[in-house]
Amino acid sequence: MENCIFCKIIAGEIPSLRFYEDDAVVAFLDIQPANPGHALIVTKKHYPTMGETPDAELGRLFAAAKKVGLAAAAAVAAPGFNIIVNNGTVAGQIIPHVHVHAIPRFEDDGHQHWAKRSVPEEKMKAIAVQLQAALKA
Ligand code: 5GP
Ligand code: ZN
Repeated sequence: MENCIFCKIIAGEIPSLRFYEDDAVVAFLDIQPANPGHALIVTKKHYPTMGETPDAELGRLFAAAKKVGLAAAAAVAAPGFNIIVNNGTVAGQIIPHVHVHAIPRFEDDGHQHWAKRSVPEEKMKAIAVQLQAALKA
């Protein structure tokens, strides 16, 4: 897609530290890493968010994310890693081309989990009921 930074990286029009590729995905290092080894795994085809991405492509994306996440953590001797998808602007998605972050994590690396919120029990129950209905096959 025109004017998409990740499509340009995939096409080789923008340089990147690309280190893995198969017929469905490309992986390269994030230009502004949260930690050493922070990698991005992107679908070769342009889909803006997870919602528009076919399940088969997501399967390939997440299978690659597992492989890349394990390799990235091993490469920098990190004991764990986060797999993150920012989906939509409000969720922090800056590049509208579906991608997975694989971020090696270290003890006391200064990153924190999101803040916990308390949601009333009744509201929790209503949401669960709503979800069950929405996801009924
Ligand atoms: P998002 O917030 O959309 O989930 O994450 C986009 C990520 O892409 C950011 O972490 C950002 O640092 C990274 N990024 C943006 N532009 C480039 C680029 O030109 N090259 C590389 N390697 N990463 C980029
Ligand atoms: Zn794109």
